[in-house]
Amino acid sequence: MAAMLPDGRRLGAHLPLGNGMVKAAERAHAIGASALQVFADNPTAWRRRNDPPRELVDFRSRLAEYDISPLAIHAAYLINLAGPEKDFFERSVSVLTAEMSAAEAYGAGFVNVHAGSHRGAGIPAGAERIAEAVARTLAESRGGPDAPRIVLENSAGGGFGMGTTAEELAIIFDAIGARGVDVDRVAFCFDAAHLWGAGYDLRRPGVVDGLLSTFDRLIGLDRLVMIHLNDTKSELGSRTDRHEHVGAGQIGPGGLRTLLCHPRLARAVYILETPGMEAGYDAINLRRAIDIAVGRPLPELPPEAFLLRRERGRIAPPSGTDRATRPSRSPRRTSAAGRKPAGAPSKRSKASSSRRV
Ligand SMILES: [Zn+2]
Ligand SMILES: [Zn+2]
Repeated sequence: MAAMLPDGRRLGAHLPLGNGMVKAAERAHAIGASALQVFADNPTAWRRRNDPPRELVDFRSRLAEYDISPLAIHAAYLINLAGPEKDFFERSVSVLTAEMSAAEAYGAGFVNVHAGSHRGAGIPAGAERIAEAVARTLAESRGGPDAPRIVLENSAGGGFGMGTTAEELAIIFDAIGARGVDVDRVAFCFDAAHLWGAGYDLRRPGVVDGLLSTFDRLIGLDRLVMIHLNDTKSELGSRTDRHEHVGAGQIGPGGLRTLLCHPRLARAVYILETPGMEAGYDAINLRRAIDIAVGRPLPELPPEAFLLRRERGRIAPPSGTDRATRPSRSPRRTSAAGRKPAGAPSKRSKASSSRRV
């Protein structure tokens, strides 16, 4: 039974494909997800697969059968669309282009990518870079009403992260529009944990109302297509990003409920990027989100829920023919490898992260 939220809005999770794509579709269905986010390839490697994964056809038909839609592809973490280094930028554009063609093959509506880090070059320069990257990627990708859209995600603001506020996202959006790009192929995602890290106190309904009003005025709420409904371990305004189980972090059930039930977000899809997806917490957190939506009190989580190590499982789909996907780079929860835009300043935030998205 798919998760039921107010106004029929959809809720799903970022699930690993490494144990099989059909298995992932079946898992999504089993936990009641009505939407899904995945990695199409190893998120911490530049190299992209040459062949489509073997199970792709079955994966797509399973999603259709279970009415799991939209599908979002989360782009590789290495991508930094906003930085000043030429080589890094070129590689980022080609990987994003590859993600867009993977999205075509997968039937994914969205390619979710972090706005990136300007690396000290400043927000206007960073916005111009993102605009160039988006324009070039879209020029290489098929258009049309069912073509995948580039979905830019907000940042908590650490390491010169771009898009920490609605105003900053609007600067990026305007720079894209100024390139003559079809802006209907560009959309946005708010990650609740990143909003919190950026200083939006989501526990206060007025703050959420204000954020959405500003976004609507500057960009248009029809372009806010996705909410990453993550709770966070980070302090408000700390510019750090450490995802937590739904309703068990600093934001808490009240703040998440404001996002989950906000009348102005009825068209958005909600995706969880919470810890322990491979350890059964996918089902638990989806259930917790539903509990929040319907106003049920949340059950307490066991102590081990807060001791989860970063997922070590294979997170991208197995290769079609030529090669196995490399395992994720670091088993240590304290490693930030791959989480920040590579090319972000080497100064590590004191807080480490257990999640990377
Ligand atoms: Zn995050
Ligand atoms: Zn996210």
